[in-house]
Amino acid sequence: MVMNRQGRPTSVETVPTDQRPDTTSGHRGLVHEEALIFEIGDNAHTGVDLEDIGTFETSLGGLERKEPINLPGLSEPQTVRHYTRLSQKNYGIDSGFFPLGSCTMKHNPRLNEKVARLPGLADIHPLQPESTVQGALQLMEDLAHWLMTLTGMPAVSLSPKAGAHGELCGIMAIRAALEARGDARKVILVPDSAHGTNPATAAFCGYAVKSIPATKAGHVNVAAVKAALGPDVAGIMLTNPNTCGLFERDIIEIADAVHEAGGLFYCDGANFNAIVGRVLPGDLGIDAMHLNLHKTFSTPHGGGGPGSGPVVFSEALAPYAPLPYVVRTKDGLHLREHPEKDDASFGRLVAFHGQMGMYVRALAYMLSHGSDGLRQVADDAVLNANYILSELKDFMTPAFEGRCMHEALFDDRFLKGTGVTTLDFAKAMIDEGFHPMTMYFPLVVQGAMLIEPTETESKATLDQFIASMRALAAAAKDGDTHRFLGAPFYAPWKRLDETKAARQPVLKWSPPAAQEAAE
Ligand SMILES: *Cc1c(COP(=O)(O)O)cnc(C)c1O
Repeated sequence: MVMNRQGRPTSVETVPTDQRPDTTSGHRGLVHEEALIFEIGDNAHTGVDLEDIGTFETSLGGLERKEPINLPGLSEPQTVRHYTRLSQKNYGIDSGFFPLGSCTMKHNPRLNEKVARLPGLADIHPLQPESTVQGALQLMEDLAHWLMTLTGMPAVSLSPKAGAHGELCGIMAIRAALEARGDARKVILVPDSAHGTNPATAAFCGYAVKSIPATKAGHVNVAAVKAALGPDVAGIMLTNPNTCGLFERDIIEIADAVHEAGGLFYCDGANFNAIVGRVLPGDLGIDAMHLNLHKTFSTPHGGGGPGSGPVVFSEALAPYAPLPYVVRTKDGLHLREHPEKDDASFGRLVAFHGQMGMYVRALAYMLSHGSDGLRQVADDAVLNANYILSELKDFMTPAFEGRCMHEALFDDRFLKGTGVTTLDFAKAMIDEGFHPMTMYFPLVVQGAMLIEPTETESKATLDQFIASMRALAAAAKDGDTHRFLGAPFYAPWKRLDETKAARQPVLKWSPPAAQEAAE
């Protein structure tokens, strides 16, 4: 009999699942095989009894649908079961450890959820008269106040709906400021270690991207920045702490050099979790920086869910910030929707005011932590990452010497000659019950494995994770490749062809017969 770590018998055999007997239903134990909803239902049936509406006049002027769209008709219990089973297959921060680097997948306190669901905040509509939403506007003003306080920056725009959207906001403000002074520069400097969204943002705004190499120690090469500066450089986009999990110690020198050359300084603040309460970005010469409320200020995220990426601005860039924003007038709070005379705002980014539900969660998070609590967030996030780094450094190969900030970065040198790749290693972690770390990013590190534990994990969880990682590293070195090649064995789905999924995405379901014909 196979025993688990606690010495209790387990039915999880060492035999890979694909060598176990098939079941008639396709289910395994109480884990149900789940078909697509289109395969369960069909449009000949419906789960509700509606009266036949007969023929009727439409007022759509010829735009009405000509063919049925084949929505599957299911009964309520069938529908509930389908989505409940799907939700049970979803691995998330509420099911276990999620050390995905550069994502800050930390626990979202339930208090935030409770507050966000208060009817007075959850049930309001963006088109309601302002006099009826004074409390919501007050909340936005309070959130703006705390974001400015925590960053030491004089202005903030709340409306961007993700980190990448915040980058767009900041670079559009930089462009507006440069155009206002008649100096439409063409180049944005982006370090090699940047998050992929940085060069994408610069290119989307019409800039040429010039990469700046990293030093061997994983920092931005200051000499290379200085050499690249010139009259055509609009600015730099720099991440701090950077995607190697390191603090850019030369950031002030870089900011000064960029300003001297007439450029502006965008800082990617997605990793603010590592420095909140410890560093004031306002002291670093930054002109614009986004914060990911869904990372640092704990809103559930991932899987394309809602994000919120407020941008803080320096005095120089504040006049170009987007609309709308909350202003206080003698009649109360007011959302300024349109430019006033002499307003240099570049316009608006979103239809309304941004992600209200996330503002509520973020403010609840800040107020419940207090300033000492927020500082401890950064301290514990850095402590946890360094614990992992030091406990794994003799088993895996750290990409850089010394301590890290919020995430520990390893390369694949320890796997050399084992026949196991970073990808195989990550898949074997799934069998161990852990969401894999970020892999092959940042690009400047060979076979990168980027682990961000966050502050909300207990030492017990970290120890269990460390034990698994050590065991996997040892297994790879011992030539025990069957644990890796073809992994995951215990997940509902075996290893998928990830290249095919990217190259030939199947975005629309069609009956299997039609699919076969298409192939
Ligand atoms: C997450 C992240 C982003 C992008 O944020 P989104 O909210 O996913 O758009 C940008 N830069 C860095 C360094 C990040 O970690």
